[in-house]
Amino acid sequence: MPAPTDAVSTGEAALLRKASDIFAVTFKRNPTDAAAAPGRVNLIGDHVDYCEGYVLPVALPFLTVVVGANNGTSTCRVVSVLDSGRNEATFPTPSSGQLKPGEPAWANYVKGVVANFPGAVKGFDAVIVSDLPMGAGLSSSASVEVATFTLLEALTGTNTDPVKKAQLCQKAEHEFPGMPCGIMDQYVVTMGKKDHALLIDCRSLESTQVPISNGDTVILVINSNVKHQLTGSEYPQRRAQCQKAAELLGFPSLRNATSEHVEDLRRKKCDVDVVKRAQHVVEEIRRTEQCAKSLLVGDLKRVGKLFYESHETLRNLMEVSCPELDQLVAIAKTVEGVYGARMTGGGFGGSAVVLVKNGAVEQLKSRILSEYKGKPTFLVAVPSDGARKLNM
Ligand code: ADP
Ligand code: MG
Repeated sequence: MPAPTDAVSTGEAALLRKASDIFAVTFKRNPTDAAAAPGRVNLIGDHVDYCEGYVLPVALPFLTVVVGANNGTSTCRVVSVLDSGRNEATFPTPSSGQLKPGEPAWANYVKGVVANFPGAVKGFDAVIVSDLPMGAGLSSSASVEVATFTLLEALTGTNTDPVKKAQLCQKAEHEFPGMPCGIMDQYVVTMGKKDHALLIDCRSLESTQVPISNGDTVILVINSNVKHQLTGSEYPQRRAQCQKAAELLGFPSLRNATSEHVEDLRRKKCDVDVVKRAQHVVEEIRRTEQCAKSLLVGDLKRVGKLFYESHETLRNLMEVSCPELDQLVAIAKTVEGVYGARMTGGGFGGSAVVLVKNGAVEQLKSRILSEYKGKPTFLVAVPSDGARKLNM
């Protein structure tokens, strides 16, 4: 039987039951607290969060659920159960002074949050389950971080301001897995809202909920199911090139740069790659603002046009796309009823996002299935709520 091509969300209740059952068998008692955090898909505004630009992501109905209980010791025991198997990690609480990044690599996402939590974390046991594809550009990493943080809020009986919470989870990802990510993922995973996209100003850290009148359109995510191993080195390099451009212009970031500033850099014969990155960022920030306005007034044709333009500069100027994502976007562009398509997230593989009329979804899928060279998975991005504590 061929592998299913549609990812169907398991749902919060079923994930909670699964995590609780595994916890009971593993730790011989019931968990006391639980939390959930979604993944996200970015509609537009990629590689601009670390330049203090605007981004427009949506929280997904696909979740990480974590259950736990304090264990009366100074050790944390965490189990993550994935389709690929069971993973276990044991590490000390922050008060020991011995909490450091290390092996297993996946546990660094959890340890980083424990280390940065703004309260006294006691030893705890936890089980993590998820129906979110990992490494697909849908931010399973921020989902795990924010779910863990939310569980710790429950276990310690504290609440953290949501923006502060997103910042601490971002810091966790910088310090433990060592990924110098922007703020977008942790922000929307924390503050996303059902039926809305979130326009985040990554400089002021203020945000606006943008209603999505879902009516007869679908946000379809197509997971290319490829992940090129470049991400590790290329992402920090893009970030450094953007920072270089800002410095050359005498700005703290590229947020206020204009096309004229980019031309200035070009005239001064700055590094060609630095100029290209800056041009993408300047254009992408404007596009994201325009896209939010177009969504608000329901001008989906304009939204779609902005999607295609975004893909072009991510491919040609930021140079973070790959042949698989280019092919997915090229196929989508020829299907009637598709408003627009683009790669989404950090790139080098992962997913494309397509805005498409309801009635054209099946045609789009069948064209992708027959023409795409890889093995795609489809996922409908129904705009959903951000992280929350769950009742046991
Ligand atoms: P993305 O965030 O786009 O899914 P990343 O490479 O940033 O991709 O993060 C994926 C990594 O996050 C995984 O390789 C794994 O280490 C960690 N991770 C994500 N979800 C889980 C989970 N449910 N259990 C354990 N580790 C996870
Ligand atoms: Mg990630």
